[in-house]
Amino acid sequence: MEIFTTKIALNQRLLKLLNEQKTIGLVPTMGALHAGHLSLIKKSKNDNDITIATIFVNPTQFNKPSDLLKYPRPTQADVSILENVGCDILFLPAETEMYSSTETWHYNVGAIANELEGAHRPGHFKGVTQIVYKLFSLIPADRAYFGQKDFQQFLVIKQLVAYFKLGVELLCCPIIRETDGLALSSRNIHLSETQRKKALLLSATLNNIKNNYTTLPLADLLQKAKTAFKGISDVKLDYIEIRDKDTLAPIVQYKTPNAVALIAAEVGDTRLIDNMMLD
Ligand code: AMP
Repeated sequence: MEIFTTKIALNQRLLKLLNEQKTIGLVPTMGALHAGHLSLIKKSKNDNDITIATIFVNPTQFNKPSDLLKYPRPTQADVSILENVGCDILFLPAETEMYSSTETWHYNVGAIANELEGAHRPGHFKGVTQIVYKLFSLIPADRAYFGQKDFQQFLVIKQLVAYFKLGVELLCCPIIRETDGLALSSRNIHLSETQRKKALLLSATLNNIKNNYTTLPLADLLQKAKTAFKGISDVKLDYIEIRDKDTLAPIVQYKTPNAVALIAAEVGDTRLIDNMMLD
């Protein structure tokens, strides 16, 4: 695997690849790689001549400095994982390579970025669109791979690509879970054994909504979900919502198709998100 830490060096390599008419798949990550990330790399390898992974813990998308500080950065292990899976190129820039100290610009992609995660993590999606725009500008990818795990993020990036008519195809890949249902996340490393057990409540709640979506009224479903979180020490439910999977508009009508259930909760100091399609 070739590793580039500067834009200029990566750019020279990319020019060669473009000359050779290679198709490029891009997998942006913040590292601390797990099987969820690897599923994106594998899909990209399957679809493209060349797969480029990026590892960059993007400071502008963290609304809590403590969250940024404790974000895991096992770079050596990540490099080995990427080598083993056959990733072709890794872009591993330092913060100064991606941002100047005076950047205050951001894109506003509209209402979709202000809901749910946007409401609970003010500024989060401004940071996401900022870094993704920079990566898309640098890397002329034919396809870019994102996980359904961050479903709202996928919709926000889809909006960004639509606004700027960027010539990259976006693919939303399935959520990879532990056998007991917990969605893989780089943040799971912060969970104690007890907290990890409590974290199962997120996927269990989504499963329960999915299983009863066509038989119970929405209000009952959501109420049941909220009640399940009540009185559980060390766990705080941020939201549980049923939304349209294209627009994120709230679903109010019983049995409406095209729905997704989205959940966020804090388990100890660790914020977890998950979602499930209801069709
Ligand atoms: P992150 O490193 O957390 O920024 O994630 C990088 C990419 O991996 C994003 O597109 C995520 O949605 C995706 N991802 C994270 N966790 C999972 C998972 N459990 N299954 C599938 N994709 C995931």
